[in-house]
Amino acid sequence: MGWLKRLGYQGLSLRECMPYITGQKAGKVAAITFDDGFVNVYQNAMPVLREFGFTATNFFVSNQIGGSNEWDRPLGVLPAACMDADQIRQWLSAGHEVGAHTMDHVHLSELPEEQAFEQLLSCKEKLEAITGEVVDSFAYPYGDQNDKVRELVRKAGYGVAGGTDRRRAAGSDDLMNLPRLTVRRDDTSLHFIAKCLLR
Ligand SMILES: [Zn+2]
Repeated sequence: MGWLKRLGYQGLSLRECMPYITGQKAGKVAAITFDDGFVNVYQNAMPVLREFGFTATNFFVSNQIGGSNEWDRPLGVLPAACMDADQIRQWLSAGHEVGAHTMDHVHLSELPEEQAFEQLLSCKEKLEAITGEVVDSFAYPYGDQNDKVRELVRKAGYGVAGGTDRRRAAGSDDLMNLPRLTVRRDDTSLHFIAKCLLR
């Protein structure tokens, strides 16, 4: 976050970044997104975002609100708690965005169309019931998508979806497949700066 600030970027939620991506506004901005809605983001990232005056988007798994990363268990990933409804509302009231990440963190391209659509729509509806706001942003679990899946995301009523192409977004990008750069815990400052400036 410090390096974003030093490089002159304003960190914003995806929703707030959209006018910059589509060219209605000009400025040096970076969309900050987190997948999975973990409590560790609530505990560790929220205070830092506040310190820098940044906002961010978190993509929540609607059947694991107050739960954990059940979907990671078969892969041997350590358990991590997901935010509960109250924490999600606090995330929202701190100025951040609530985005969707399916009901069960599924591989959308592997599901029958009807089930994939249900995963998209029910997640949106549940998050909207919790927040009282329209949920417009979506991220594909595992980055798993294809033409059919992108069409279902649009049909479920989302306006923008983050994929896993690793580069900066441009106005010409498909809003159902916006690229994103990953920031990892073992990225050095130099790695991070290079990603911000070069990709
Ligand atoms: Zn995820």
